[in-house]
Amino acid sequence: MDYQEADKLVTVFSAVKGKIQVIAKGVKKPGSSLRPLVQPFCHVQLYLARGHSLDIVAQGKMINFYGNVRQELFSTMQAIYIMELLDKTLMDGAPLPNLFNSTHQVLLAMDEGCLTPLLLRYFELRLLAELGYTPVLERCVGCGSTGVGEGFFKLAEGGLLCRECARQEGGVIVIKPDNLALLRLLLNSSPQVVQKVRSNPHSLEQLEQFLEKYLEYHLERRFVMKNTIRFLKKNLIVNG
Ligand SMILES: [Zn+2]
Repeated sequence: MDYQEADKLVTVFSAVKGKIQVIAKGVKKPGSSLRPLVQPFCHVQLYLARGHSLDIVAQGKMINFYGNVRQELFSTMQAIYIMELLDKTLMDGAPLPNLFNSTHQVLLAMDEGCLTPLLLRYFELRLLAELGYTPVLERCVGCGSTGVGEGFFKLAEGGLLCRECARQEGGVIVIKPDNLALLRLLLNSSPQVVQKVRSNPHSLEQLEQFLEKYLEYHLERRFVMKNTIRFLKKNLIVNG
């Protein structure tokens, strides 16, 4: 058995191997040189040695600690939310280099103080796309018609329905035109473009709620950090 009391089981999202679990030995002892490298949302380079069941962190170096993110409660929680999304949804050992890059870009933007709510939505959509749940917005998922401007969205089918299919199927969510436009923009733009787009708070909130429903429906998970962020925001605003 590789694992001892002072060791820590660490989940790593790697550009090459995807999500993997590794053992960091002795990191619970004071003065461990590996200890800073296994904190949440660090960008690190790790050298792994093969263990019996899991690889073992032999050495490593810090690339980015995202120190600015850690200075502020909300940005810290948003970074943890991103980690939670990855941790709860990715399969072990499946390389996802594009998603790795998106994660990196979003964390960098956070650290540089230019995270926008839309960039977080962009990340959620990138994750959904990588898992095969890109929302279909250009045609009806029922009959293929392009008459989908009314924004009838069926969660189960992952896309828009035309008026006729929506009437037959029922149970649709209506996405307003400005949010449809935002979703299309997020699906087709680079993070650099997304970062520059501004939208009104009401649209942003609706978009966030829609994506939350969509994520929870398809990934069959609830995301704890999302609720914590919402709770704190509400209470800090009320108390402040
Ligand atoms: Zn249709």
